[in-house]
Amino acid sequence: MDGMVTGLERLTADMTAWRRDLHAHPETAFEEQRTSDFVAEKLASFGLEVHRGLAKTGLVGILRNGDGPMVGFRADMDALHIHEETNLPHSSRNPGRMHACGHDGHTAMLLGAARYLTEHPDLFRGTIVFIFQPAEENEGGGRVMVEEGLFDRFPVEKVFGMHNWPGLEVGRIALRPGPLMAAYDIFELTLTGKGTHAGMPHMGTDTIMVGSQIVSALQTIASRSVHPIDSAVVSVTQFHAGDTWNVLPGTAVLRGTVRTFRPEVQDLVQRRMGEVATAIAAGFGVEASLRYERRYPPTTNSAAETELARRAAARVVGEEALDLDPMPSMGAEDFSFMLQKRPGCYIWVGAGPSDQGRNLHSPHYDFNDAVLPIGTSYWVRLAETVLSK
Ligand SMILES: [Zn+2]
Ligand SMILES: [Zn+2]
Repeated sequence: MDGMVTGLERLTADMTAWRRDLHAHPETAFEEQRTSDFVAEKLASFGLEVHRGLAKTGLVGILRNGDGPMVGFRADMDALHIHEETNLPHSSRNPGRMHACGHDGHTAMLLGAARYLTEHPDLFRGTIVFIFQPAEENEGGGRVMVEEGLFDRFPVEKVFGMHNWPGLEVGRIALRPGPLMAAYDIFELTLTGKGTHAGMPHMGTDTIMVGSQIVSALQTIASRSVHPIDSAVVSVTQFHAGDTWNVLPGTAVLRGTVRTFRPEVQDLVQRRMGEVATAIAAGFGVEASLRYERRYPPTTNSAAETELARRAAARVVGEEALDLDPMPSMGAEDFSFMLQKRPGCYIWVGAGPSDQGRNLHSPHYDFNDAVLPIGTSYWVRLAETVLSK
């Protein structure tokens, strides 16, 4: 174990300032204009070649250093629609928007790595493509960058990503080959029956009663249709029906999300949702129509690249601080679209306790700046490992 790369003191101070500046100015999906300008200005000042306008606000910095392979390192830049409640000096100046997932920290760490590697060309040989993507939360900025030709213009051989991970101690890193984060699907189920007087239910079809039975029955998909060793989550998160006290509504709309790891399970859940909803509704004379949309694929690490990431991480934190068999998360990540196109590895970098609102997407969350030198050291060691001279 080598520990963190040397000479990081000044850079860590700079990264902390950048991170807090970004934190104070959060921007959401495809509107990360100030953030994009900030990143472009920094990359150019380090001497990197900057390409802007991928997925609107996304951008890429290229660091070339002799003949060698081309590899992609990726960070996300977007914030969330949350009202910040931290009361920190650097808390959000944009009401209703907040860096509650630590993408401010991810951006600062990748910028730090870009500067460090520019200043230490002796460490690697080849080309590094620093990818700064917009709209990781919900809108799939990673997908849009890929669709707009990210890897055609910058044909990297491998691609790597990371996320800070509250609940994992600072100084620990978790990674594994195979799926680390789930596929994220959404659904909307519309029930159409015949509304009636609430005192005369026999005159119509009660879509609230039918919807309630469907909500319960959908839970049997994970427990009775999916293999017990496989994983699936079906969550109904919205149930909209009715406007007043004494009318049974003629329509109801249910919405929610499905999480799975394997395509076979994803297919099974989608099919069973349609069958269960249609059959239950039909039993009561109600029509069910299901709209099912696949949003993010699972985030799946390839074996060879995970081994490279493991070696780089071990140099920074030591073998004993690696968690090589973490429980995958049912959260989702749009780095998955890049991993569909290129082999690579996505890791979790320990960010400390997750209690007292220090978990991701909490209005009390703030990125733990103690992670900055660790994440940057990982990127540097990864460049050394993947682009060894
Ligand atoms: Zn998030
Ligand atoms: Zn995130």
